[in-house]
Amino acid sequence: MRAVTFQAPGEVRLDERPVPEVRAPDQAIVRVRATGVCGSDLHIYHGRVQVEPGFTIGHEYVGTVEAVGDAVTRVRPGDRVAGCFLTACGTCIRCVRGEYQRCVRSRTFGFGATLGSLQGTQAEYALIPGADLTLRRVPDGVSDDVALFAGDVMGTGYHGVAASELRAGEVAAVLGLGPVGLCAVQVAKLAGARVLAIDSVEQRLRLAESFGATALHLHEQDVRAEVKALTEDRGGADVTIDAVGHPDAFELALRLTRECGRVQCLGIYAERAEVHLGLAWLKSLTIRGGQANVIAHIDPVLAMLADGRLDPSPLITHHMALDDAAKAYEVFDRREALKIVLTP
Ligand SMILES: [Zn+2]
Ligand SMILES: [Zn+2]
Repeated sequence: MRAVTFQAPGEVRLDERPVPEVRAPDQAIVRVRATGVCGSDLHIYHGRVQVEPGFTIGHEYVGTVEAVGDAVTRVRPGDRVAGCFLTACGTCIRCVRGEYQRCVRSRTFGFGATLGSLQGTQAEYALIPGADLTLRRVPDGVSDDVALFAGDVMGTGYHGVAASELRAGEVAAVLGLGPVGLCAVQVAKLAGARVLAIDSVEQRLRLAESFGATALHLHEQDVRAEVKALTEDRGGADVTIDAVGHPDAFELALRLTRECGRVQCLGIYAERAEVHLGLAWLKSLTIRGGQANVIAHIDPVLAMLADGRLDPSPLITHHMALDDAAKAYEVFDRREALKIVLTP
C-alpha cells in the first residue's frame, strides 16, 4: 500500500508499505477514505517532534472497516467509521475514570516511538488498536470530510468548552483561529456564550464572524481595551480559550480574562516558559490545560455533526490526492490552507 512517511525535516514522501493485518483480538484494519493534514503534523515536518525516518505519519482519518479481531464488538467489516487520533486501553486507573487522554498505555497515530510507535493514517490502510474505544460508526448523511473532524479538531474544540465549564450567557474569548480555535468558536456559540474571536488573519476572522462571533484583529485593534469594553462590568471574558500554544498568547489570555474567570489552554505547551503568574494569582484565575479527551467527546460531537449543529466544512480549504502529500505539506507549511483533506 501507499503511505506518507517522514524522511527528514521538510521532507515527506510516498512509500510502499505492507498492508497491516490484525494481530491482536482488540484490533481492526481500516481502509482509509479520507485523512487530514493537521497543525501537529507540522511539528514533525519541522523536526520539533522527532520521528524515525520512514515512519508513516498522520492521525486524522475516516475509513471503512476491513477486518476486526475476535474481541471487537462495536464495529464490523463494511462499517464506515471515524477514529480518534489516539488510543486508550480502557482498563487502567485513568481510563476507568474516563480520563482517556492520560491512559497509561495510550498511543498516538503517526508520532513514531515518541508516542507509542503506532503507524500513521496518511496511508491506504491503518491498523487500529483498541478499536472498540478508538472507532465510531459515522451516522448516515455525515460526509467523510465532516466526520474527519470528530476524532481530533472538533473534539479538541469541544474539549475547550467542556473543560472550561462555559455556560450559556457567559462571554468566551477564543485566541487563535486555526481549525481548533474556529471549532471552539462554533462549540462556544452552541453552548450559548457570546464569543470574541481573536486572530491576525483576515480570512480567519471573517470565518469566525460567519459562525456568529465578534471578530477582533490582534494587531489592528487594541484587543485588551476592546474586550474590556465589550464585556462591560464583567471586566473581561468569563473564559478565555488559548488555541495558540505560545507564551505570548497565554499571557494575553491571563489579561483578557475577568477576575475569578477561567483560562483553558488547548494549544500545546511542552517547554519552560515565562508568564506573569502573579496576574493569575491576583485575579484568582483557574487555569486548565492538557490534551483533549477526544475519546470521551467523540459521541456527542458526532451527534452534533450529524444534525448540523456543528459544521466544520467551511474550514476545509484543500482536497488533494494522497499521492500529492509532499505538495500538501508544502502548501500547509506556507500557511495557505486551514484544513487539507487527502484521499488515497
Ligand atoms: Zn490533528
Ligand atoms: Zn488506559
